[in-house]
Amino acid sequence: MERKSRHWYWKILAIAGIIILAFVPIAYVSGFATWYADHVYPRIQAVLGRATGWFPFALGEVLMYVVAVYVAVTVIILIVFGILALVRRCKRGKAAKAEPKQSESVDAENEEEPASVAQAAPANLEAPAVQAAPAAPEAPAKRRSRFLPIYMKVFLACVVIGLWLYVFNWWIPYHDYVLSAKTHKKEFTFEEIFYAHNELAKQINAACLAIERDADGKIIYPGRDEAWKTVVRAMQSVSGEYVRLKGYYPMPKVAMCSDVLEWMNIGGYTYPYTLELTYNKYINNLYFYNLLAHEAAHHKGYYKENEAMFLSFYACRASDDPLMVMGGLWDVYWRVYDALSAANEDLDKQGFRASEEQNAYFNSHYVEILPQVYDDFYGAREEAQEAYEEDDHPLEEYRETAEQAADVGWDTQAELIGEFSYDGVLQLVLEYYAGQMTDEDYFLGGK
Ligand SMILES: [Zn+2]
Repeated sequence: MERKSRHWYWKILAIAGIIILAFVPIAYVSGFATWYADHVYPRIQAVLGRATGWFPFALGEVLMYVVAVYVAVTVIILIVFGILALVRRCKRGKAAKAEPKQSESVDAENEEEPASVAQAAPANLEAPAVQAAPAAPEAPAKRRSRFLPIYMKVFLACVVIGLWLYVFNWWIPYHDYVLSAKTHKKEFTFEEIFYAHNELAKQINAACLAIERDADGKIIYPGRDEAWKTVVRAMQSVSGEYVRLKGYYPMPKVAMCSDVLEWMNIGGYTYPYTLELTYNKYINNLYFYNLLAHEAAHHKGYYKENEAMFLSFYACRASDDPLMVMGGLWDVYWRVYDALSAANEDLDKQGFRASEEQNAYFNSHYVEILPQVYDDFYGAREEAQEAYEEDDHPLEEYRETAEQAADVGWDTQAELIGEFSYDGVLQLVLEYYAGQMTDEDYFLGGK
């Protein structure tokens, strides 16, 4: 019986291992990842996303801590068993020198095979003078020899399950190029950046004026459950163009480690192993929309940062809620603003000055952000800061360490993902707006 189950264990593990290894390179085959992300991944997302959604806490986060402890415990166990094995070997070495003929059966006892009661007996019987009482020392030796193989089998099975989830929930969908494939990598002209800037500023200003406020002019924020429904509605409303965005979205969960996320400047996290969305509870109410739309895009299989940023922008722009429009477009606005400033400097450096007529066009068409918008964002940040200060932060002494780790982490991530990093969203946004421009918008003739 035992032999049979062991046989199946290795068979299943080997098959799973081969499948995992095969799909790692297959993810690079042109078109496969996109097909997978459009047709297979949504089924996994619908089932696993619902299943983990039943947990009232972030299961992925708990598992992360459990895995950390599990790995540490395994390392300790391996070290302890390694030392014990060495000690036993030394002892046997000495014994073997005294009685060389019995050394073979002693080694056999050390093997994984538990059928060694009979073989173990002579080993223990070899114990020097106390031949009359072998039973007591034999029992613990036998338990030890079974514990480690079983423990390592469970550990190995967990590793394979983890790798399976990693490859099929994240690795393959990450390698699709739905949005980035549309990028032509061209340089954008001054007018194109100017146009994008103005469109964003116009939409932000209009949204600001449409937001519901109290008698003091302060924004009346909905609860986060309501805000999440707005995000889902907006994501689903653009699923005509981005098919994966339709269907079920699980409720996002508050990250238990919000303190650490706050220090590391992390707004939220999508766990690919459990397909859960989590967010730092100290993020401000206006940033909530942008962040959650971003995490929702990841959850739906758009794992590249630039693509998730773009889809967040795209959904926020189309939202029926002015709060989501204003909050969601703010980050992208500043990216475009920076690009416009750089393009303006470039024009100066090149000695290229617009004609008076063109200058007049620029000045009359430049859209300023309304002062109320700045007030709203300052207000939202202040409220978030107050909420942070109201809570206890028992790990505050590690804040600096977390901040330093975050600096290294963000830099490393940017290097690793290159053009797919957050900054890559600028390209996608400029391309989107450039697609809407008419000849008139090219007032410098730079089409
Ligand atoms: Zn992201």
